Amino acid sequence: MACKGICTRYRAIKPHKEGRYVSGQKRCSKCSIFLNWDGKYCPCCGYPLRTKPKGTNTRKRLMVLQQVKRI
Ligand SMILES: [Zn+2]
Ligand SMILES: [Zn+2]
Repeated sequence: MACKGICTRYRAIKPHKEGRYVSGQKRCSKCSIFLNWDGKYCPCCGYPLRTKPKGTNTRKRLMVLQQVKRI
């Protein structure tokens, strides 16, 4: 569950007009990188990818935080 550097191969280029999440890019908070990746989990560290901007689903964020606590 750590960054191995694989994520840089899938690094997403910042879109000019649309937001990153709108154009289908996903963020890995472990690797601190935006990815062009179809899966739900980071191909690099296996951490679940964020598909929505911060603040729009606080409840989901809380759930993730609780899961992290349990681990
Ligand atoms: Zn990584
Ligand atoms: Zn990652």
